[in-house]
Amino acid sequence: MHPGFHVNHGYRCGGTPFARESRESQQPDQHAAARAIRVGRVTWTVGFDLDMTLIDSRPGVARAIDQLGAEFGLPLSGTTFADRLGPPLATLLVEAGAPEDLVPALVTRYRALYPTIVSTIPPMPGAQAALAAVEARDGRVLVVTGKHAPLAQLHIAELGWRVDHLAGDLWSAGKAATLREQGASLFVGDHVGDMNGARAADVFAVGVSTGPCTADELRAAGADVVLTDLTEFPAWLATEFGTITA
Ligand SMILES: [Mg+2]
Repeated sequence: MHPGFHVNHGYRCGGTPFARESRESQQPDQHAAARAIRVGRVTWTVGFDLDMTLIDSRPGVARAIDQLGAEFGLPLSGTTFADRLGPPLATLLVEAGAPEDLVPALVTRYRALYPTIVSTIPPMPGAQAALAAVEARDGRVLVVTGKHAPLAQLHIAELGWRVDHLAGDLWSAGKAATLREQGASLFVGDHVGDMNGARAADVFAVGVSTGPCTADELRAAGADVVLTDLTEFPAWLATEFGTITA
């Protein structure tokens, strides 16, 4: 296996157990979110995951994976693959049954195919308004994603979003260093890996149950709050942090 492709198993949703710390012994803290925002107010920053948090990449990814499987003669199911989005591509390919020695070639070909599907991938409901809500409060927007950064940038450009900092190829606790370095107060994501990253960075974890993980799975992984989707984000932000704009 190419040393550049690290297959990191774990933090799956859909019933596979994952290691986590228990929060049950901790007292509920109604003001944790507000305190987090005050701490970060000078450089107020919100991090977002990309796939299934800000963009609905399932159909496009499914088509690209189906094409990849056909070209390489592998029984890859695009829809099954797309239902597991979050971990790095190499991890997902191995989990889908791709031979590890083929993974570098598969990743290279996938990245070559990817630009053809970008324009078919829409924003998630509420994504635009969520980004606007951060901007309206003079917040910085980070995108911290497992997707390869140049591919993530294609989506940001296609959708015309203002993103202050993009970090790609990061997964689970691997997102924490960027969140800390960028001074994130919140991290918003759809996967237990995202909640794990937020907790590792000690930032407020906002789960959205628009991806492969259920609300219960997100809470169990450490989400401080779980929203049904990003359409709820602006109102939640106003309720939690309304005083900062006063
Ligand atoms: Mg995601």
